[in-house]
This record gives sequence, C-alpha cells and structure tokens, in this order.
Amino acid sequence: MSEKYIYYFGKDSADGSAEMKNLLGGKGANLAEMSNLGMPVPPGFTLTTEVCTSYYSNECQYPSVLNDELEENLRKMEEELGSDFGNPNNPLLLSVRSGARASMPGMMETILNVGLNDETRKGLIEKSGAPRFVYDAHRRLIQMYSDVVMEKAAGIEPEEGMGIRHQLEHELEKMKEDRGVNSDTDLTDTDLKELVDIYRSKVKEVLGKPFPEDPKEQLWGAIDAVFKSWNGKRAISYRRIENLPDEWGTAVNVQAMVFGNLGSDSSTGVAFTRNPATGENQFYGEWLANAQGEDVVAGIRTPNPLNDSCKTENSRDLETLEESHPDAYSELIEIRSILEKRYNDMLDIEFTIQSNKLWMLQCRVGKRNGIAAVRMASEMKNEGMIDSKEAVSRVTPDQLDELLHPILSPDAERSATLLAKGLPAGPGGATGRVVFTASDAVDWASRGEKVILVREETNPEDVEGMRAAVAILTARGGMTSHAALVARGWGKCCVVGAGDLDIHSSDRKFKVESNTISEGDWVSLNGTQGNVYEGELILQTTDTDNNFLEHLLSMCGDFRKLKVRANAETTDDAQKARDFGAEGIGLFRIEHMFYGEGSDEPLFHLQRMIMSSTIEERESALNELYPFMKDDIKNTLKTMENLPVTIRLMDPPLHEFIPHDTNRQTQLAEALGIDLGQLQKRSDSLRESNPMMGHRGVRLGITYPEITKMQARAILSASSELKSEGVTTYPEIMIPLTSTVTEFRHQDVLVREVAKELGIDSGYMVGTMIEVPRATVVAGEIAKTAEFFSYGTNDLTQMSFGFSRDDTGEFLPFYVENNILPKDPFASLDSAVGELIGMGIERGRATKPDLKVGICGEHGGDPHSIDFCHKAGMDYVSCSPYRVPIAILSAAQSALLDI
Ligand code: PEP
Ligand code: MG
Repeated sequence: MSEKYIYYFGKDSADGSAEMKNLLGGKGANLAEMSNLGMPVPPGFTLTTEVCTSYYSNECQYPSVLNDELEENLRKMEEELGSDFGNPNNPLLLSVRSGARASMPGMMETILNVGLNDETRKGLIEKSGAPRFVYDAHRRLIQMYSDVVMEKAAGIEPEEGMGIRHQLEHELEKMKEDRGVNSDTDLTDTDLKELVDIYRSKVKEVLGKPFPEDPKEQLWGAIDAVFKSWNGKRAISYRRIENLPDEWGTAVNVQAMVFGNLGSDSSTGVAFTRNPATGENQFYGEWLANAQGEDVVAGIRTPNPLNDSCKTENSRDLETLEESHPDAYSELIEIRSILEKRYNDMLDIEFTIQSNKLWMLQCRVGKRNGIAAVRMASEMKNEGMIDSKEAVSRVTPDQLDELLHPILSPDAERSATLLAKGLPAGPGGATGRVVFTASDAVDWASRGEKVILVREETNPEDVEGMRAAVAILTARGGMTSHAALVARGWGKCCVVGAGDLDIHSSDRKFKVESNTISEGDWVSLNGTQGNVYEGELILQTTDTDNNFLEHLLSMCGDFRKLKVRANAETTDDAQKARDFGAEGIGLFRIEHMFYGEGSDEPLFHLQRMIMSSTIEERESALNELYPFMKDDIKNTLKTMENLPVTIRLMDPPLHEFIPHDTNRQTQLAEALGIDLGQLQKRSDSLRESNPMMGHRGVRLGITYPEITKMQARAILSASSELKSEGVTTYPEIMIPLTSTVTEFRHQDVLVREVAKELGIDSGYMVGTMIEVPRATVVAGEIAKTAEFFSYGTNDLTQMSFGFSRDDTGEFLPFYVENNILPKDPFASLDSAVGELIGMGIERGRATKPDLKVGICGEHGGDPHSIDFCHKAGMDYVSCSPYRVPIAILSAAQSALLDI
C-alpha cells in the first residue's frame, strides 16, 4: 500500500497522471492528465482505490490519516480558487463522483453542490447574483443527497414508488400544479426557496433525520456513499456482466463545482473526438444550453448538435455549439487534438461552459461500436498514430461479430409499417416482442423469448433487462443518453429518442398516432438508421464491403500463425468464406448435397442405394449418384481454386435419409418400384437406439466399401477434370469417426486404389477426423498412414463427456448457471477435451513431425478455443463463413500474446 491516499489536481499540474488508473480510477487519472496538459480543469482531488479497498477490509473504517490529507488538499483547492468550503461569504461548492479503473456508466453514485446550506446559499446568491439558480442548486443537492446518502447508502429499501427521490419529485410536481405551471423553469426563486424548505421537512419526516447543514458532514457523507455504491446492486451486476473484479474498488473524485446552468452564456456537453458510431474522423457531440451535465446524459431534453456534421433529422434546426459559443468551440477543437495525440485513441469528453468559460470535466477512451472500432484501428494506423500490433489489439472479436451482425431485410423493411423514427444508437437490426420493464425483459428472455425493451428512457437500474433484451427502444434521450452508451458498449441494436412514442408503461402499451402496440406484440428495429417498425421482420446477415475490415484483417496476417478455413458446402458459402479471407475449406460435409434445394434427384439415388438388397443394385444406384456428387464437389473445388478443400466422406447413419411418415414412404416405395412393406422393413432395420453411436462415419465406409469408393472417385475425378481445365485444386479426403488404426487403413487403401484406377498418383491427401476419444490415444499409430488430422470437437466433446449433442437442453443450462460447468463445452472448448486434443497432436507429430492438424468442430470460431488451438500448435481452424474474420482476428490476437 502506498502512503499517499489523496492525489491533487489543479491548474497546470497534478500529483497523478493517466498511467495511474489502477490507483486513481479512470476519471481521476484522466483529470490529473488533463491538468498536466494545461487544460482548464476545475481543481480537486482523488481519494484512491486503495482507500476503497482498505475501507472494505476494515469494516468501513478509513485510514486514520485520511482526514488530515483531505483537509490539506481542500486548503490547496481553496487557495487556488480564492473561495472557501463552508465559508458563508465566499463559498466553494464541491462535486463528489465515483471513478473505477474501467468505466461503469451510471452504475455508481454522484453528488453535486455539496457545501450548500442556508448560510453558504446567501453568500452564493450575492456572489453569483442569480438567486433562482442557487435555490435550484440547493433543491437538487437535497434531492440527490437524501436519495443517495441518507437512503441508499444507509441500506434503506423503500417500497416501490415510496423512495425519498420519488416523494420529493412528487412535491415538485405538486408545487407546479399549485402554481399552474408546466415546467420546472417556470417556478420562481421564491417558489424554489419554499420548495427547499418543503424538501427538508419531507426528508426529516420520511427518513427520520434532519438534512445535514454542516458542509463537512455533507462531504464525508457523500464520500462514504460513493464508496458504498461500489457494492451497490447495480454496480455488482454490471461487474458480473462485464467480468470486472470486485477487488478493484472505486476512487472518489472531489472537485470544485462549475455550472452550466448559470444562464444563457452557460452550457454543458458531451463529445467524442471521433464519431463513435461510424468511426469517422469527425468531432462529434451534443450540448445543452443552460443545463447541468446530468441533463445531457439523462436524455431528458433533446440535445443540440456540436457542429454541422453531427446534425441528425431531429436536431437539424437546432443551434450548434460552434455557432453559439465559437470561442469555447475552438478551444475544444484544440483540446481534441491534444488529447488524441496524448492518448493515441478516440476520447469521450465532458465539458461545461460557465459564463462563457470552458471547463473540462472528464475525458476517457471512448466506447465505440464494431464498425467504428474497425475504422478507427485502420485509420489511426494510416495516420501513424498507432502501429499494426496496436491496431489489431484495438478491436475485440465481439466487435467484429457486431460488424457482421444481422440487419433487417431491406425488402421487408420497404414494405413494413414504420411506426416511429428515433436516433440510431446501436447498430444492426433486431426483431422481438415488446416488454416495458427490465424485470419483464429478464423473465421473458429466460423463457427463451426474444424481447425488445421499450422505455421512456433507461437508467442504470435497467441494466440487467437491457442485457437480456435483443434490442432497446426509448422515447427520449440522445446519442449519449444512458441507453445509447450502454447499448453501444455492448454492440446491441438500439434506437433512442423516438419522440412519437407515447408510452403507457402501467398499461403495458405504447401508442404512435393511431397504432397501439401492447406487451408481447412484435416490433422490429433498424438500429443503424433509427427506424421502428411494426411486426416481426426478417433479419439477414450484412454483406460487408469494407476496406477498413480488409485492412484490419491484412494487418492480422502479420502476426497470426494459424490459418483460417471455413466449413462450407455450397459454392455461395465457399465464395463468401473466400471473400472474408478464408484460406481453404476445412470441412465440406458431403451429405449436405442430399438436403435442401436441388437435392431431390441425388437423394432419390441415395435412397435407392440404401434400399438395395444386393451389391449389384447398390453399385447401380451409386453409379447414378456419382455424376451429381462429382459436379457438386467440382463446383466447390473450382470456387476454392488454389486453396485446400477438406471433403469429409459421408458421416450420418443411413436411416436419416429415409422418410419416416407413411405418406412419403408410400411415394418413395412407388418410385423405387417396391412395396411399402418392404420399404418399411428396411427402414426399421436401419433404426438405431443411439444413432450418434451407431452405424455412421467410417463404419459405413467399412461395411459398404463401394460407398467410399464412389465418393473417392467423385472427388478425384472432379479434381482431375479441373486440372485439365487449368484449375489447380487441393482436395483432402477425410475419413470421419475413426477410432482404430485398422479402420483408417482400410479406408485409405480403398481411396488409393481408386486413385490408381484413375491414374492419379499425387495432388490429393487422405487424412482423418479425430473425434472419438480413443483416436487421440492411438493418434501416433494413425499418423503413420494419415496425412492430416482434423479435430471434430463436436463429437469429441460429446463422447468425452458422454453428453448427447442433441439432448443437452434439459441439463446443460442448469449446469452452467449453477457452476457445475464454467461454460457450455459445445460452444467453448473444455479444458479436459483440450488435453485429449493436445495428446493427439503430440502423439501424431511424434510419428510425423509435419502432420497437418486443424479443427473443424464449432469451436473453430470461438475466440477462447482459437487461443487454445494456437497454443496447441495447430495449423488451422475452420469455422462458419461469417466467423472467418473473427477467427482471423482471434488468431492474430493470440499470436500477439506470445510477442
Ligand atoms: C465434429 O464432430 O466436430 C464435426 C465437425 O463433425 P459433425 O459435426 O458433422 O459431426
Ligand atoms: Mg463429427
């Protein structure tokens, strides 16, 4: 523990710096840095995160020296400002704010205007000449303080709607009604003065204690409450969602108040040094005249645009900061550039203009969505601000996922009923059923419903519900409102400020003109444009034509060791994978040609083959099937010209291809020219009690060698025909489900015989899937013949755990919720399955050092599993086409950790 518990920041210098985030929290470290950079920061000091951890480990007692340190720092502030905390003639007011290492928007507490009482109020009125403003500040202090310090921090949990904040708001409403006015701003200074007295008696009545008048008592109460809010419900659930450790603790920043609500030459705003939604290198932000910072973030008034380039439909006619406060705006432009140079990143800043003087209240690295993250990484690299290593580290795999997010189908969107327009706060499209409370969102989502949370505006109490919802829609608020910030951080589809929505939460419905949407009704959002539609619209995956993405992925190429392939069976998927940068196909499941469009004819021949009772019949059916299979494979091989394509021989049990309902069985029997009874008998004989462990994979090829031979002939002929057309291909023939060396050798011999018959002696490989635990044990033997291994981790997980792949729904979610398993092992590789893989690689490569090894189970697209594959020394991962960019990025990030 360091000796010093409080760090000062003031004019042109500070005790701390940006590097001290762990000790000073993000806000404190950055306030210190801005002071060091000579920016106009209201002076103040930071109580370190060590105070917080020591507070919690000492039964909520502070270190004994803390009070003296605080007095000393307060004196320094007073000297710098020429005003005194608690001095009735020349009072200094303070703000008390939290600030953890990582930003936790709105999850902890803030108290403003600390130091106001009847006496200092008098002094402040004289000093400012603005009585109305001072009474209003006093009213706000009582409201915030009684709620945060006297109620929440004291552990009082009032009944719904009976909290002190609510009750005071009710008094405010009552007074407006009495005076016959609509808005807070219509209340006069005497009204507000009276309201302060009403508030104080209400506080005493409800909480049984008078509101503290002593400024020091107020200050310590506020500090205490902020430290306590680290362990408040909201903060704890946010930490759980974001995986932030409880041990970090928060710092507390005590700072001189500045006021953006001191009159028409005062204002307050929030800005980003670049556009956080698109990544464009453009100063982007919002401001409100004569307002406090909370008013912008709370989204109660629609904010004005910072400059012309950030005007939206809703703010097109509003005055920009550039027009209204040109001097402060140019100072901000200067600050923007200094900050970007210092941090080499996009910053999010909060500022206040008090009587035309600009003050910086906060700066931090700004949250951004996936599109913006990729663009900024690419452009900042090009601008020389960061190197490619940094650029690659700046984008998370989740952000890429967001970039490749589904959107509403444009066709469906064109013909849908547009209910309302709002601000595009979170990208992509979403469709779900409407709910009006966060707890409903959580409940419905836990039943598997897709819900859209609709709120007037969100607040930090809604965070769990926001997480559970597929999208968020609010009637109020701007691009920096709570809903927008949180959704952007999570890459969640979100529309805010859809002002036409008339929400009646208590009746569980909202109206827009003549439309009424009730709880459970479907709506769809276009979060990229801010559109709200009635009904369930079709979602489709975005077609990414993005130079920034390409640039990022090419930078990944400088670092990654793993190659990335795709699992694809159609030429469309293969092309998509190639476009996304796939370096081959790691799994072409041959049986896919028997499903979906165009499959009727080949399926019929397959069925005929299955129904055959003699080898001659079977061979004749296979001969009919052959040209379909050869063409199908040829198309994909051609699409993947010059790249390897792993073609996996037929894997599923044969009964999967025979219809089970009598109607379709009758039709098939007729077509085959056999009677229904015969067909049903054969079908019954194929039925298995445990098909996953039955007559499938290599077992089929061994019992029906002619099936393997026909597939080998189709693959090798397709490749050799392409060769004669000048197209180079690299087919890799893969035997599924091998568990013994003999099985593999048996199939290898068959394939090589076919090759010989065709006069082919090179240009192809024969290898196996390793997906039965036994195969990992005998991998050394198998590798004597096999030219490559591809881990089928779907089956390997199934067989290692003894969990049926298709039947985990009943227990696996329970296992994960109750920490019996840390994660779903079918989504993210289990460590013990990982050990089996490691052993298989080690034994295989002990036999054949250059054995090619990859993975083609679903885990090949999961960042955690990719990291494992990198560490295990695999050559490639293979995943679905849309996850290829994520796999490329994850592979590069894993490799960067080795540097
Ligand atoms: C596997 O088992 O991991 C695999 C890729 O094969 P399939 O999913 O087709 O069984
Ligand atoms: Mg498998």
